[in-house]
Amino acid sequence: MQTYKIQSAELLKKVMRDYFLKMKEKESPIAWCSSVGPAELLRSFGFEVYFPENHGALLGATRIAGDYIPVAIKNGYSAHVCSYTTSDIGAFLSNETPLQNHYGLTSIPRPDLIVYNTNQCREVEDWFSFYAAHYQCPVAGVHPPRYLDEVSKDEIELVVRQFKKMIPVCEKVSGKKFDIDKFRETLKLSHEATLLWQEVLKTAKASPAPFSFFDGTIHMGPIVVLRGTTEAKEYYQTLLKELEKRVKNGQGFLQQEDCRLFWDGMPIWGKLRMLSDLFIQNNTAVVASTYCNSWVFDNFDEKRPFESSALAYTQIFINRSEKAKMDTLKTWIEEYRIDGVLFHDSKTCFNNSNARFGLPSRLKKETGIPTLVIEGDLCDLRFFSEAQSITKIETFIEQIESQKILA
Ligand code: SF4
Repeated sequence: MQTYKIQSAELLKKVMRDYFLKMKEKESPIAWCSSVGPAELLRSFGFEVYFPENHGALLGATRIAGDYIPVAIKNGYSAHVCSYTTSDIGAFLSNETPLQNHYGLTSIPRPDLIVYNTNQCREVEDWFSFYAAHYQCPVAGVHPPRYLDEVSKDEIELVVRQFKKMIPVCEKVSGKKFDIDKFRETLKLSHEATLLWQEVLKTAKASPAPFSFFDGTIHMGPIVVLRGTTEAKEYYQTLLKELEKRVKNGQGFLQQEDCRLFWDGMPIWGKLRMLSDLFIQNNTAVVASTYCNSWVFDNFDEKRPFESSALAYTQIFINRSEKAKMDTLKTWIEEYRIDGVLFHDSKTCFNNSNARFGLPSRLKKETGIPTLVIEGDLCDLRFFSEAQSITKIETFIEQIESQKILA
């Protein structure tokens, strides 16, 4: 069983509430941004930044996405495209949002500017363009080269040019001139917060681990929506302090940690509690994930704000080749002393599903670490069979444990 609750969760609730209330008051212009889009540049112009993917995750986690996906389908969207997109658009067309109950917002914040980066997928462009058309609002995008082995100087230069093209748009909408010092300052804050987030994730290298992948999906809120603010930095200072103390005291979130797993791919938002409980019942710690690591931008450097932003945002895991992904996974398996890797094949997000081109079997062959693929989805629970997944996961854990005994 889980031995403790993370105390910083109370502060997290406040930080997230304050973030949304600022947008309710609308004292500053609002820019929408994709989750790994140029949030720092936007914040340097004084925009409050809203992230539709965060809203999609909220629709999934509160298990209401299923009410809205059919509305988007009726309006011409396929049931097989990103269920963040379909649940978010469906909720919008239904004039409903969980932000109403959670934070008292009457609707999602109205955008003054919409910005995306297709480093993660083209879906964000289609999704955000729906809103740009609806609100008759300016939209700007970064379109970096994709699926890279390495990110070269040429690619960085291309992305820097695209970042710089956004400046006049931001100036026009915000009414402020671009200020390189403000951009440097925002990037520095973002860098500090992202390094703290990385340290938070790394506490799970300890055995017993003080923090699981499932905790990570909750505590990642500020690094997604508040990059470039002191609030995010201060939140992760508090969380890290708490977790480091746990590590020092040898206190893990499990009483007994028999098996350590890695989670690849999207969370299944509507089943976080069920899955977390399942692993806990099996004395299994899911200690690391590609997902939570997606917001580690350790290459940010305020001395080279454009180049380092272009590099950090282009070299994210989701935007890399199978070869680069394999190398990164191998490193994490070693660093976190992983016993098995679970790949979530998310039906409506092929971009963040790495099980479709043989990676699990190649990884197993090259590392000897067992792998498992489970089918599901980020928001659309029609693609997830609970009974079948429980059987697969429990069998996988049993196999790992019996191999350990034989070894
Ligand atoms: S990465 Fe996947 S889940 Fe995220 S917006 Fe793109 S398609 Fe949707």
